[in-house]
Amino acid sequence: MNRLMLQTKLIGFLLLTSAVIIVFSLYLLIDAWRANDRAEAIIELNRQADFLFMSLKDLTFERGRTNVVLSSGKPVSSSDREFIETRRKSVDEKITRGLAWLEKEDPPLADRLRGDYKNMLRLRQEVDSVVSGNATAERLRLAEVWYEQTTGIIHYIIKVLEIIGKRQEAPRRFGIYQRLLIDTLVFRDRIGQSGSIMTAALAKNLPLSAMQYRRFTENLAQADYVWSEIEAESVILRDEKLDQQKAVVYKEYYGKYRPVLEENIPTALAGKSSPEKIRQLKELSVTVFDSVFVLLHQYKDAVATEMDEQKNKAFISLVLAMIQFIIALTIVAATIFYFRSRLFQPLDHLIRALGSIQRGENVSDLSAEMTRADEIGQLAAGVKMLEKSMAEERILRKLTEHRAVRDELTGLHNRHFLEMNLESVMNRSDRYDEYVSMVMFDLDFFKRVNDSWGHPAGDAVLRQTARLAEQLVRGSDWLIRFGGEEFLVLMPQTTIEGAVVAAEKLRNSFGRHNHPGIGIVTASFGASQRKKNESFSAWYARTDAALYEAKQTGRNRVVSATEVDLPVRAAQVTWLAQWETGHSLIDGQHKKLVELSNSLIAASISPELEPEKVLTCLNELLDCLVRHFESEEKILKEAGYPEAADHAARHFELLREIDQLKASYLEKEIKDSAFFLFVVNDVVMEHMLKEDKLFYPYIPPSGNHGVTC
Ligand code: GH3
Ligand code: MG
Ligand code: MG
Repeated sequence: MNRLMLQTKLIGFLLLTSAVIIVFSLYLLIDAWRANDRAEAIIELNRQADFLFMSLKDLTFERGRTNVVLSSGKPVSSSDREFIETRRKSVDEKITRGLAWLEKEDPPLADRLRGDYKNMLRLRQEVDSVVSGNATAERLRLAEVWYEQTTGIIHYIIKVLEIIGKRQEAPRRFGIYQRLLIDTLVFRDRIGQSGSIMTAALAKNLPLSAMQYRRFTENLAQADYVWSEIEAESVILRDEKLDQQKAVVYKEYYGKYRPVLEENIPTALAGKSSPEKIRQLKELSVTVFDSVFVLLHQYKDAVATEMDEQKNKAFISLVLAMIQFIIALTIVAATIFYFRSRLFQPLDHLIRALGSIQRGENVSDLSAEMTRADEIGQLAAGVKMLEKSMAEERILRKLTEHRAVRDELTGLHNRHFLEMNLESVMNRSDRYDEYVSMVMFDLDFFKRVNDSWGHPAGDAVLRQTARLAEQLVRGSDWLIRFGGEEFLVLMPQTTIEGAVVAAEKLRNSFGRHNHPGIGIVTASFGASQRKKNESFSAWYARTDAALYEAKQTGRNRVVSATEVDLPVRAAQVTWLAQWETGHSLIDGQHKKLVELSNSLIAASISPELEPEKVLTCLNELLDCLVRHFESEEKILKEAGYPEAADHAARHFELLREIDQLKASYLEKEIKDSAFFLFVVNDVVMEHMLKEDKLFYPYIPPSGNHGVTC
């Protein structure tokens, strides 16, 4: 799995989990918010509905006392008038406020109530005008109308309250309280009604009419029914305090008041008056009605408290849901941040480091990851280890590569190196017709060195020999330790003559070097030039044979493998016009040198070889060469040739090489033909045609000097 996939999958998983957590806590938050709103709405509902509810209480009082006044047939007393006025004011105030609220909540209900209320206001005026006169019949008729109308409005208000109590958003217990409140009020009304009918009957010396008796019993039956409702509904609330007060009401009404009421029915029906019974009933009614009102207020308080509690609960849930939501968000953010900084970024860093290792580049600092004790720390340590071992392997590989092509003892290239590069050298030589030569040398009596001074001393000689050889061979030559104390020099673009000269230089150098405590260790040389398309083994065999020859013929000498088959090109040289410089002295000397070279070659390869004649030819050539070099140097200096000094140095070098080789030749260490070919080809021809050509443009033409060598 690659880096991007791992990150994408983990982040995807994280985001999904986070989304679920956030959605869930958001749901809780919204739910709590709604519950809170609902609780607030119910509290407000309860508060506003209370005006209508309280108007009911005052309305029943107003209805009762007005009814008593109308039925009595006497002028209204000042205390009754005051009582009625106070109730009317209270009813007006509460209905007006209740209506204002209902207008917003439920306009059709409000319209109907307003209509009923207006009718009641008109009826009040009628009541006031009738009460001031003494028309008994009119008063009784009005009492009926009054009673019916106010009862109607009371029922309507109860209906409105019932509708509100059953509203969808209201909790069930709110509805129960609402019902209990209404029922308690209705109960109070019914027992009040029945009480009033009985007291009125007992006060009047008139038998209870059939209609009044019916209303009396109806009220009693309704009171009983409503009470049973109260009993049934309050069970659900399970409120001890309310139950206690309910028991008080029961005891006061059913235990005391009701028996007295029922006991007086025969007296009332018989039309007897009984002031004593009236007093008794009035006394008992005070405690009963008070107890009912206490119950009513307890219900009101209970519903308000309970709704407040619900609101508080909802508010606490809201706060908790908010905290939960914030915690969820924080956890999600923290998790993402943690994964990013503790996992993805370090992983990214490590993977980058692996990339760097792969490309062989430097690895950036991993110390932060390395100090960790977890898997990232282990990974970082692994990456670091990999980096180290890769670096070691690189060094090792370089070392191995180096070792494979270098000889450990001398530091020279080894045989393996030769094998690796030989083919390209030989191909090049074949394709471009280039010369390539080889010199092999083997230290003389080396076994003795080991035997006399020990192997380490022998090693030191080998190392020193390598150093000496390194200084002498050209940069383009390959110096190789071929095995034991046997070395090989491969010389691209070099003729056999050049190879012999190089071999002589080496031989001279070894022959003059004094190895501390050991002395001089000479070497024997075999040299050869590769023939076109010649295989390496054939070429090597020829060189080895030459070396063998050198060993056989006294050691510390150079033997050329090509001495038998001399190149034809060097046999005779014909002067060409293009070689002329225009300077008569130089040209004259050059021509003379060519002529003397031809003579030397002819003498040396003549079948009737005369050694003295050959030597004379050689000496003549060398003398001419020396004189020529002298005059050429003088002319170049005078002509202002910028390379004059270098050219003179080259002359000096050539003469020194000739001197060394001549000594070997005279000692019979090298074959005469090899020496002659070197003088003719490498010194006379090569120098004249290549190096001298450079100064041609600088020298002015000059007349015949008549002098040559
Ligand atoms: P010759 O003139 O005929 O070459 O005589 P030589 O004693 O050199 O004879 P040969 O070539 O047979 O002996 C080579 C000796 O070089 C044998 C071996 O002990 C020694 N030799 C080869 N390699 C090493 C080396 O790495 N270190 C040392 N110290 N000696 C070596
Ligand atoms: Mg050897
Ligand atoms: Mg040897």
